[in-house]
Amino acid sequence: MMKANDIRQAFKDFFASKQHEIVDSAPMVVKNDPTLMFVNAGMNQFKDQFLGQKEVRFPRVANSQKCLRVSGKHNDLEEVGHDTYHHTMFEMLGNWSFGDYFKKEAIDWAWELLTDVFKISPERLYATVFEGDSEDDLPRDDEAAKFWNAYLPEGRILNGSKKDNFWEMGATGPCGPCSEIHIDLRSEEERKVTDAVELINQDHPQVIEIWNLVFMQFNRLDSGELKPLPAKHVDTGMGFERLCMALQDKTSNYDTDVFQPIIQEIASISGKTYGKDEKTDIAMRVVADHLRAVAFAIADGQLPSNNKAGYVIRRILRRAIRYAYTFLGQSEPFISKLVKIVVQEMGDAFTELKKQEDIVTKVIHEEESTFLRTLETGISLLDKKMKKLKQNGSNVLDGKSVFELYDTYGFPTDLTALIAKENGYTIDEKGFEAEMKEQKDRSRSASKMETKDWTILNPSTDVTFKGYESTSIKSHLLRYRKIKAKGKDLYQLVFAETPFYAESGGQVGDTGYIEIDGQKISIIDTQSENNLTMHFTKELPENTEAEMTLVVSESKRRQTEANHTATHLLHYALRKVLGEHVEQKGSLVEADRFRFDFAHFEKMTREQIEEVEDIVNSLIQQDIPLNEQRNVEMKKAEEMGAMALFGEKYGDRVRVIQFGDSVELCGGTHVSATGKIGLLIVTVETAIAAGIRRIEAITGKKALEMVRKQQHELAAIGALFNNQKNLAGAVEKLQEEHTQMQKALEEYAKEKAMSVKNDLLKQKEQINDINVIAAKVDVDNAGHLKDLSFQLKNEVDNLFLVLGSAINGKANLSIMISENLVKEKDLHAGNIIREAAKEMKGGGGGQPFFASAGGKDPEGIQNAIDKALTYVK
Ligand code: ATP
Ligand code: MG
Repeated sequence: MMKANDIRQAFKDFFASKQHEIVDSAPMVVKNDPTLMFVNAGMNQFKDQFLGQKEVRFPRVANSQKCLRVSGKHNDLEEVGHDTYHHTMFEMLGNWSFGDYFKKEAIDWAWELLTDVFKISPERLYATVFEGDSEDDLPRDDEAAKFWNAYLPEGRILNGSKKDNFWEMGATGPCGPCSEIHIDLRSEEERKVTDAVELINQDHPQVIEIWNLVFMQFNRLDSGELKPLPAKHVDTGMGFERLCMALQDKTSNYDTDVFQPIIQEIASISGKTYGKDEKTDIAMRVVADHLRAVAFAIADGQLPSNNKAGYVIRRILRRAIRYAYTFLGQSEPFISKLVKIVVQEMGDAFTELKKQEDIVTKVIHEEESTFLRTLETGISLLDKKMKKLKQNGSNVLDGKSVFELYDTYGFPTDLTALIAKENGYTIDEKGFEAEMKEQKDRSRSASKMETKDWTILNPSTDVTFKGYESTSIKSHLLRYRKIKAKGKDLYQLVFAETPFYAESGGQVGDTGYIEIDGQKISIIDTQSENNLTMHFTKELPENTEAEMTLVVSESKRRQTEANHTATHLLHYALRKVLGEHVEQKGSLVEADRFRFDFAHFEKMTREQIEEVEDIVNSLIQQDIPLNEQRNVEMKKAEEMGAMALFGEKYGDRVRVIQFGDSVELCGGTHVSATGKIGLLIVTVETAIAAGIRRIEAITGKKALEMVRKQQHELAAIGALFNNQKNLAGAVEKLQEEHTQMQKALEEYAKEKAMSVKNDLLKQKEQINDINVIAAKVDVDNAGHLKDLSFQLKNEVDNLFLVLGSAINGKANLSIMISENLVKEKDLHAGNIIREAAKEMKGGGGGQPFFASAGGKDPEGIQNAIDKALTYVK
């Protein structure tokens, strides 16, 4: 039996023997392409070659490409685990012709490989061809059918619809008719009962598509129109895991040696057996599959996060955690324990995974712990909701609650339904769907970016970047289009030559303006897509044909450059201080500041940060000149000591940026010598994910500004302390004095209160057998009046107490009457104070034994006291 690794190698060897260049898989995570988050087919990395926008270095290429189908046009997430032949991440074996061979060779070689090399019985193979489509005005692909007919009888060549046999990468882009190869893996007995022809494309788990040969001929425009490509190409994709299933005589991808080691490890850790119970099996498949997807995504630089691609990865991981929690009884981090086995199995073919085993494990572990806590909170919330249902005598959980659990706690409906069912409830699925739709509509209108088709003035797509040399040049428009982004109308302009740097590698896009016949138009951003540098404006030039002057905002560019070079020096210094495990994980380079994310497991100490600052600043002082080399072969760059971090694409010649010992592959703009950076100051050092730290820093003018601002503040403080040498000591002393003073004040207040009370006791007189105290006192607040009243009540019985006080220009009054007097003499403090307060232009009230009042007129306090006394006289 052929092992998976040998099958992959045999594929490559076969196409190498047909003069194909064998290249590496591109990273699965797509950077710098707004139309795609993850690679979803082997052809993605060749998109530019298909569109004729990039030079073709090898007309024939083959590889195995890591693909992820979890978003956009190709999304298999919900199938995964439930069926046995769709994965989130899978390897696609592909061979390509760029304007070289076409249908005949593609079909001949596919047949040769499957039947000659891999020895699949021709009896089990079927092909489909495109039946044609009236909407796009395309005929049936008779040509492909003819070539198939050399191997297959007519009856096993089937017509397929546009859905299955017209391949499109996305809503727009390269596309063309395709021919699929299907294989029937059923037993001989089953094959006799039903003809495979009946089962093709019917979701039968053993009658499946393994290889798709696409004949790339068109570019789908935004308008829906198909435009012929400049040349015809071949693009094929064969599911590696499915091929392994066929060659290893299995009926499920998960039974091959690609997945079995992982499944067995899951079984051994969880103590469950694979193949006994459908639900357990599904959960094991989900975990095995998602684990691979997430591990590869992290190794390719995409961490789980709360938005965009990061959120997709987080959701995949959460789906796995949930299945493990619900069906495998794992309430503690579990998936992170499986990274080891994936690395063992795939680390040799994909070294990026091996190199980053530690970080992948840590990140997954952290995500698991967090989500398991959320899961528990969600479950207790659900419990509460079910209790409420019970009280209300209902047994349907409303759609809003189901949605809340889904949205906030990551509970998919099936989990909520399952838990609800266990407790005798059902869920309102329709209501949930409605909530779901509402949210989708909301986010669609928020993120919508519509693009109109290009207006092409010149079909050339040869855009030359002149921004390394100059910030102002003359050029002319090649094409432009209108877009709507976040509700605003904008234009994207493409020029033959440009000094504008398009956002990439963390460096922000340039801004500036263009000038045409005296008309000046601002360029608010620069981005690139499919190798085209797009300049964003709010208006179009009146004369689109004229020569235009393109001017980059110089000061912003210079500051950005300084910051970009600073990230390189920082990277170098971090590796010196912390060790070689420090690897760049991302960066943002702006004019005012930059940030740099890197792998490191603990918080940096103050000393380490200062050491890093010192190294960088000493490199700055050495004024090391830039040594820039363009068009360097990848191999050569590696020999120079450059770190290839983000997996360059095949055939790419790279640009090497060297400042002394710092060597990096980089397309960004840089200062001509490090001295231009001036000064670097680290402002923030923090964690952004498990095992990943972030440094924020400022340079040059900004650093000076910050130092100056701090100096000013210090000077101001210094002046307040008569410019003493030891300012911190002075502040500390002041704080001490302050504390002591506060203590003294409290003592004083207590003493004062005591003496006021003693004075009052002395003023006590007897009126009609009642102990009466009535006085104006000097206190700080109304609270003190109340305290005094209660203290006196405890010390004097038979008491009728009236206290008045002027506080902050207002009159205050309180009356306290012993309980026995309230009963015996029918006295009521609240009623009395209401009358008395009138004398000081105020009002109040309270209980029979205690009441308080406030008034506007402190002059009236004595009258108010006298008034109160009339009630006992
Ligand atoms: P299917 O109809 O089975 O979903 P597809 O039409 O989406 O396949 P293509 O886009 O043509 O597939 O991709 C080429 C090949 O990649 C397929 O023939 C199949 O072998 C494999 N493949 C596609 N999707 C997956 C997946 N989710 N998991 C594993 N292999 C896949
Ligand atoms: Mg599919």
